[in-house]
Amino acid sequence: MKTIYLDNNATTQVDQDVLEAMLPYFTELYGNPSSMYSFGGQVSQAVNKAREQVAALFHVTSNEIIFTACGTEADNTAIWAALQAEPNKRHVVTSVVEHPAILNVLQYWERQGYSVTRIGVDSKGRLDLEAYTKALTPDTAIVSIMTANNETGTIFPIAQLAELAHAKGILFHTDAVQAAGKLDIDLTKWPVDFLSISGHKLHAPKGIGVLFVRQGTAFRPFLRGGHQERGRRAGTENVPYIVGLGVACAKALENLASETAGMARLRDRLEQGLLAEIPKSRVNGDQEQRLCNTTNISFKNVEGEAILLMLDRLGICASSGSACTSGSLEPSHVLRAMQVPFNYAHGSVRFSLSHYTTQEDIDYVIAEMPAVIAKLRELSPFKD
Ligand code: PLP
Repeated sequence: MKTIYLDNNATTQVDQDVLEAMLPYFTELYGNPSSMYSFGGQVSQAVNKAREQVAALFHVTSNEIIFTACGTEADNTAIWAALQAEPNKRHVVTSVVEHPAILNVLQYWERQGYSVTRIGVDSKGRLDLEAYTKALTPDTAIVSIMTANNETGTIFPIAQLAELAHAKGILFHTDAVQAAGKLDIDLTKWPVDFLSISGHKLHAPKGIGVLFVRQGTAFRPFLRGGHQERGRRAGTENVPYIVGLGVACAKALENLASETAGMARLRDRLEQGLLAEIPKSRVNGDQEQRLCNTTNISFKNVEGEAILLMLDRLGICASSGSACTSGSLEPSHVLRAMQVPFNYAHGSVRFSLSHYTTQEDIDYVIAEMPAVIAKLRELSPFKD
């Protein structure tokens, strides 16, 4: 059975060119980039090239790029760096719909005595701008708001949010893990101080990330040790993965316009097809300001987990908005924050495409899904 992979916000397939670029750095060019001899020098040149390729995707300079082990580390580092650099400020602003890589980190800082304001969203997942503006105080050290939400794809107005923070002398971080490679991010126009990305969301391997730190921003390292990354992130560089991420960013930049248009076309076909074929279904998230590859659809009176199990039998990989916590299937924190009605929120499925997704994949899902939902509705105790 063919696998129809529609869970690209969870992780993506490594691009063949990325893999080929990486391979020599495991076996032939395995030197340490910090060593003095030319065998290591070649490797250090490859790291520099990758740094430039990553920087180009965001229109920044390569000395503003720090390689990390993942998006989570980049997020942790941004918050850590800001709080260490601003020791007299004890407040952080974020949103209620962030990834756990921010939410759980800020819970930790709350236990250390910091206060955290979490800005709510409306029914389309859009940030409450009035509450945001009010939350920015002289005591605020950093704001962290994601560029786009991983569950719904809703895009936040980062340039505007960063300007408002800067007007009050507050540092601004954005988690662009889901947006990188799917949105034109020009950091000459967005006044953000920190930005995180993760390789495995844009066809590089799992286990490599980047933190962009704007030149001149006060910074304190999260990992201390050797002098790698100009003393900003200790640890011998993961050269093959860095090289791979460089190629992935170069390809994303080259193909951004065509690939995003193609993904949006297929995503819209999927969404329209499912809504037309399946009664009592609805889209969650802002359909105007949304990542090109994501749709989150709720089917009334069915369980998301049950849908996923039945889709799995058909070879279709997607993900649900529910998280199994303490035996009860709770809708995700994102759908709860958007106040998606209970009997819809439970039956939510996120489909996330990549440029590998084909029209045949989409048409297969549109053809199979109505019977899946009809079957589950027959079994459901809720009938209205
Ligand atoms: N931030 C967002 C919005 C994500 O979706 C993810 C991963 O799903 C992460 C951070 C964490 O990235 P990583 O898996 O590289 O640690």
